Amino acid sequence: MNFVKRLVSLLLAFMVCMALGAAFAEDENADVAAIKQRGVLNVGVKNAVVGFGYQDTLTGEYTGLEIDIATAIAEKLGVDVEFTAVTAATRGELLDSGDIDCVLATFTITDQRRESWDFSTPYYTDHVSVLVENESGITKLSDLVGKKVGVSSGSTSAKSLVSALVDGGYIDASAFNPDTFDPSTWTEGVSFRQYDDYPTISIALTAKEVDAFCVDKSILAIYHTDSRSYIEEEFAPQDYGIATKKGSGFSAYCDELVTGWINDGTIASWAEAYGLN
Ligand code: GLU
Repeated sequence: MNFVKRLVSLLLAFMVCMALGAAFAEDENADVAAIKQRGVLNVGVKNAVVGFGYQDTLTGEYTGLEIDIATAIAEKLGVDVEFTAVTAATRGELLDSGDIDCVLATFTITDQRRESWDFSTPYYTDHVSVLVENESGITKLSDLVGKKVGVSSGSTSAKSLVSALVDGGYIDASAFNPDTFDPSTWTEGVSFRQYDDYPTISIALTAKEVDAFCVDKSILAIYHTDSRSYIEEEFAPQDYGIATKKGSGFSAYCDELVTGWINDGTIASWAEAYGLN
């Protein structure tokens, strides 16, 4: 009899545990649960931005602040992390298609982009600048008037530059509407040539196909040689956030982690390790 009683209580305890487990699983965010079940977090990162997302071409190993953040998110999820190299032009599409779960790729948070994707609290702020060949004689923003500037398609760079030129009073403000601005048709003061990736812009600068190369300073760093210089000004603060699919349950998960790591100084210490300030 005693044995039967014990068996019944064991069975009951087991059933309670199962019910609690099921309730907990139902409660868990479905998007987060899907990543856990897959066992891999797919992250879109840059592969040539030193200190943020950089891939060693010999070892294939990725390093940088964005790599550390992505790795730590995967660790929290208890899954492996897989990196896919993205560009300014491809990162949004890869997120939309579900090829990647999130983007940590110097992705600037803008109101326009918030309409398409969710962004976490910013984990880093950079500024836009312009790189030129020393022999060009260009040293400051106003010298860019009348010049052709290389930018990446899908980036904030062209609009930021025009906005800075307008703010400086170097070009006529009346033609500039930030909501409808299109680098491919803009000819007021400066013109733009758009490229798919940054190495191609660097080659175009050497070949004098463009007079200047404009993007965030973090991205320009690797293309800065002895024969090239930044112009004097930096402008247009760029807040980098983790982008996730719009409305995904994974967005809040990422934001909570990043906010925690900002508040406890973890992100600052990772940034410092890469010489970022
Ligand atoms: N951070 C800028 C942007 O999001 C520059 C482009 C890039 O990240 O490649 O548009």
